[in-house]
Amino acid sequence: IEKTDLGPLVGAIDQGTSSTRFLVFNSTTAELLSHHKIELKQKFPKEGWVEQDPIEILQSVYDCMETTCEKLNELNVDISTIKAIGLSNQRETTVIWDKFTGEPLYNAVVWLDLRTQSTVQLLSKKIPGNNNFVKSKTGLPLSTYFSAVKLHWLLENVRKVKRAVEDQRALFGTIDSWVIWNLTGGIDGGVHCTDVTNASRTMLFNIHSLKWDVELCEFFDVPMNMLAEVRSSSEIYGLMKSGALEGVPISGCLGDQSAALVGQMCFQDGQAKNTYGTGCFLMCNTGTKCVFSEHGLITTVAYKLGRDKPAIYALEGSVAITGAVIQWLKDNLGIIETIEEIETLAEEAGSAHGCYFVPAFSGLYAPYWEPTARGIICGLTHFTNKQHIAFAALEAICFQTREIVDAMNQDFGTPLTHLQVDGAMTNNKILMQLQADVLNIPVVKPSMPETAALGAAMAAGAAKGVDVWSLEADDLSPVNVEQFEPEINAEEGENRYSTWKKAVQRSMGWVV
Ligand code: ADP
Repeated sequence: IEKTDLGPLVGAIDQGTSSTRFLVFNSTTAELLSHHKIELKQKFPKEGWVEQDPIEILQSVYDCMETTCEKLNELNVDISTIKAIGLSNQRETTVIWDKFTGEPLYNAVVWLDLRTQSTVQLLSKKIPGNNNFVKSKTGLPLSTYFSAVKLHWLLENVRKVKRAVEDQRALFGTIDSWVIWNLTGGIDGGVHCTDVTNASRTMLFNIHSLKWDVELCEFFDVPMNMLAEVRSSSEIYGLMKSGALEGVPISGCLGDQSAALVGQMCFQDGQAKNTYGTGCFLMCNTGTKCVFSEHGLITTVAYKLGRDKPAIYALEGSVAITGAVIQWLKDNLGIIETIEEIETLAEEAGSAHGCYFVPAFSGLYAPYWEPTARGIICGLTHFTNKQHIAFAALEAICFQTREIVDAMNQDFGTPLTHLQVDGAMTNNKILMQLQADVLNIPVVKPSMPETAALGAAMAAGAAKGVDVWSLEADDLSPVNVEQFEPEINAEEGENRYSTWKKAVQRSMGWVV
């Protein structure tokens, strides 16, 4: 049989906290042709610690790519028409490896990890000059969330890491660097690079000069020879060294939230998207301006689509625990057997019946940045059942997003008129309806929710030397959207929201 001729294809690796995926898109139509997904394990070795095995992550990338290629072969699609590969990845997660053996020197310390709480307290006492030292350079608050504090902890506490640093064998990378170094050859000529969006989450990167910052590296005691070369989000970094896609350029790289912003076509100043995964991240494009928040949001690099293109910035509201709370209800409480069952329970409940669930498992991120917070379920009565708790968990996700939208509206002065959403949780229709009700604006979801992968594929396809995907068109906007309109009356929504805020106050100050 003739192989189907579809024109140039572009692949995207989507390396998330809960899973890895590889997806192949038709660059002419943006249609998703095939994909494969592998769930990942997270390790919780001590209270507050969250780790992943870098080798398992890497193997999942290889396996997803190989299996997707097999699926394409079965569909009679010629895989030699895959012209480029992009990468979207979980951000901040920190890996250190030996450049001569390729061996990771410790597990990946995941963004959610809280072990550095005392490190952060110590560092905050050491801040030179005024308290703005870190924030003004990086756009980020000093928090357990970002790579520099994780790296500082590893350098101080892991003997293997210390020794490798002394011998100049150690390389540091966020997941993008780890994956690209390995795919381009590893110990056999692997390229040690990262892109501006991932670099901007390390807390070692100056978002104004777009360079590693010498003073920040000194402050965190990080030797600069461990750091990757910082590149734009769309250029050829290197070629696939092996496997079915050997020789294909890797030419797009964006942190997952930036990738989703691109995949949602939020290219204009003021356009925003909210992604619901393990955590929830609302990102708003602020153009070439670095806007600093007065309301607890982060300033970050949104993307830089080409070496000679300007860096575009964003304001971001990061919520640590959203999808992770559903996972917790399944794995730790056992009130659901599958993730999807949460929807059935919530539907049976119809409301939380006065129950509020603040899932501050990793402290609270935006807009509070409160490491002392811990999760609480409150407002319980004899009547409360698991259905109500399930509903309260979904409602908590919506309330947390509402707090971010409020902060964003205050920083901008012009309120969002609708919310563009994506991520695996947006398949949950009850959640989407609740979100529209809690925000009192429409929630708009593209029918192809894999926007992070799409964004990474677009960046890869548009890179100079690949040139199969044009990002210049005026009509770039998501097609085939599903819309959820607010249904409850605004006053009822406001009452529930103000009680939620009371619950949030009660979650704070649990650990000192
Ligand atoms: P990540 O990129 O962070 O790995 P994903 O976009 O893959 O995240 O989303 C996975 C998360 O979404 C998991 O934490 C899971 O609990 C949650 N999730 C997936 N489907 C649903 C659903 N139907 N209802 C509620 N939560 C869901």
